[in-house]
Amino acid sequence: MGHCKVCGTPLAGRVDKQFCDDACRSGFHNQKNREEDSFLLKVNKVLKKNRKVLAQCSRYQQPVLIQKLLDEGFKPGYCTKVELISKRKGYLYFCYDYGYKTINKKQVEILHEGA
Ligand SMILES: [Zn+2]
Repeated sequence: MGHCKVCGTPLAGRVDKQFCDDACRSGFHNQKNREEDSFLLKVNKVLKKNRKVLAQCSRYQQPVLIQKLLDEGFKPGYCTKVELISKRKGYLYFCYDYGYKTINKKQVEILHEGA
């Protein structure tokens, strides 16, 4: 016999039953949605921050030092779109409308889409 996933009440009846009542069922799903929402909010926050750093740093002389981006709080690995420029030139990584490509191990060039 199984137990309710929320309150632990022993469950009678169908073997695939997971909750003892509707309150436990909806409580479980609400909690799951809240966890998903908070995860999405965290990721969106990182992406927005990355976009802001790219926007700010693009005002300086290009190319920009990768270290400068990192110092401003940029988190590599978070982007909204990746475009292949060419096999030799590599990829463009976008955070919304701002993108960057690596020039060498230490520098990137930032560009603004639609600018
Ligand atoms: Zn329950």
